[in-house]
Amino acid sequence: MAEIVKNKKGFKVMKMNLPEINYIGGFGICDWCGNTSTEGYYIAVLNQWYCPKCYNEWYLRATYYPEDAVIENRNFINMQNLLEP
Ligand SMILES: [Zn+2]
Repeated sequence: MAEIVKNKKGFKVMKMNLPEINYIGGFGICDWCGNTSTEGYYIAVLNQWYCPKCYNEWYLRATYYPEDAVIENRNFINMQNLLEP
């Protein structure tokens, strides 16, 4: 089951492995660098899946904007529903 990643900046992030990505119709291709990966991170505020390297780089430069929370929550709930219908 996809694991919710706690982080100090408060982003909603889910760690997802390849079977989970395949299950929701993805191919395990990082939305940032385009490389394939067997695990990665779904970033709800972006509605994108990043490989671990790109996730770490994104996290360092990302700023949390409270006004994005509505969209972020909606994306996150949608993804949880896809994974656990
Ligand atoms: Zn990447």
